[in-house]
Amino acid sequence: MSTLEIKDVRSTAQAKLPATAAQALWRGFRGRCPACGEGRMFRAFLKVADQCPRCGEELHHHRADDFPAYLVIVIVGHILVPIILVVETEIAPAIWVSMTLWPSLALVMTLGLLQPIKGAVVAIQWYGGMHGFEDAKKARALAATAAVTD
Ligand SMILES: [Zn+2]
Repeated sequence: MSTLEIKDVRSTAQAKLPATAAQALWRGFRGRCPACGEGRMFRAFLKVADQCPRCGEELHHHRADDFPAYLVIVIVGHILVPIILVVETEIAPAIWVSMTLWPSLALVMTLGLLQPIKGAVVAIQWYGGMHGFEDAKKARALAATAAVTD
């Protein structure tokens, strides 16, 4: 491979890297690899793939642990509790409506948010070079420096 081709590959890889933490977070929220934005981050509902199937970025370093679940509880609670308070005081639906509507809504919102929030947490850890992502962040910084000096 000639020097010119190596530069092209490097600049293509750099161009796909997220420019900001918000962009990395959005990629993770959509369940995509934070590095390339194309490969799927999850190999199952909440199982993060060991590496991106598209660009090969290692993702197994993440330490999301219970944090996504805590965030989902906070978000769902802050959305649902005011709605429940207003509906229960203003409309006061039949008890069977309350007993089926609120738990169902909480379940749907929780299941709908868990994967996107976990993806966002993993992406932020990747972007910030947290835990085992330190080496990947150093390599990105080194490649960016090399691209600028070329
Ligand atoms: Zn990727």
